[in-house]
Amino acid sequence: MKYQAAGVGESSASDCASLDGEDPLALYRERFFLPSGLKYCDGMSLGALPKEVPRSISKVIEQEWGEGLIRSWNSAGWIDAPRRLGGKLAPLLGADADEVVVADSTSVNLFKLLVAAIRLRPERHVIVVESSNFPTDIYVAEGVAELHPRMELRLVEEGELGAALDDDVAVALLTHVDYKTAKMHDLSSVTREVHRCGALVVWDLSHSTGAVPIDLHAADADMAAGCGYKYLNGGPGAPAFMFVAREHLLRAEQPITAWIGHDQPFEFSTEYVPARSVNRLLSGTPPIVSMAALEAALDLWRDVDLETVRAKSIGLSQLFLQVVESRLGDAAPRLLSPRDPNERGSHLAFGHPNGYEIVQALIDRGMIGDFREPEVMRFGFAPLYMRFTDVLQAAEMLVDVVASRAWDQPKYRERSTVT
Ligand SMILES: *Cc1c(COP(=O)(O)O)cnc(C)c1O
Repeated sequence: MKYQAAGVGESSASDCASLDGEDPLALYRERFFLPSGLKYCDGMSLGALPKEVPRSISKVIEQEWGEGLIRSWNSAGWIDAPRRLGGKLAPLLGADADEVVVADSTSVNLFKLLVAAIRLRPERHVIVVESSNFPTDIYVAEGVAELHPRMELRLVEEGELGAALDDDVAVALLTHVDYKTAKMHDLSSVTREVHRCGALVVWDLSHSTGAVPIDLHAADADMAAGCGYKYLNGGPGAPAFMFVAREHLLRAEQPITAWIGHDQPFEFSTEYVPARSVNRLLSGTPPIVSMAALEAALDLWRDVDLETVRAKSIGLSQLFLQVVESRLGDAAPRLLSPRDPNERGSHLAFGHPNGYEIVQALIDRGMIGDFREPEVMRFGFAPLYMRFTDVLQAAEMLVDVVASRAWDQPKYRERSTVT
């Protein structure tokens, strides 16, 4: 495997340049707009802009909307977009094309899937969620529980999933790669563990899709959802995706029954009959302009080998970690991510009491990471467009800001709405 040298021994600019020179993914960087000089380590929150996206969006707007008008629902394939994009995503998920659709947001999709899962286990009355999960997942599960009179939410701490699983559990909502620490579950063994108690599992793949190889079939996963705007680069608020395994698909009844999920939407019948396909997960009219952005971004992945992506992701994160820890020594921020790269996704989390200020000072210098309460700094490594050289320089900037205490200024303490 390529990239092996990364993160081992001394990491010099010339080592990084030669890694970049041999990088089989190097050409993908050319296909993104990246502001010159910026070290962008936040692809796990908002992926960079693929160059094809503006062209694709203007075609949709000027030709398909402007000229084609309503005819484009048929002639430009608008109506098929949720399935077509699902089909393009399926290989990244280890799913079949007819088990995946693109629609709505991750939050809404989790709501739909959780209700569908509960309805497949009507005799059970517990939803299991990890307390470390992304808050929206917990809030959605709460909302679902409130709609069902006997439903109970069981929040589990890390490492306590096994103890929380019993034959009252209908569904476990779990996140494959933790949004804060990047700690990664083993998809197969955890799914097996949930299945042993007879429950279903809904996987949130927001921080893993496009960053780590996923095989939903091999894991025997029941359902999954995830974001289009993180490592998939679909743009701010891009539509999200849903997966339902074939064995459940035609029994899966999601609660937002609306006309696009109907078996025959253009019969305008007064009776709801869910589509006899993954279309039953859909609700209303797809947002075509946003879909066009995501589709152009998904097309980038057509020939990408995910094992290569993974190897590069590990190489990049190991390099960053090694530079930060070796140069700062005892002053290094505390690693909150698993030290073993095989146990984490594609970002690193560090704890520091002045994490917020450090991240602001870095942004000021052209290195973008992000901050999560209470003291977590996150730096992500998107293998399609990041170079070893960039990661080395980004790590050096963090080293410098921490070592020089450049963060210790009143202007870096001011909080914006989005962190
Ligand atoms: C990013 C993320 C979301 C985002 O949900 P939206 O509905 O797109 O706001 C949800 N869950 C997890 C685990 C995430 O990482």
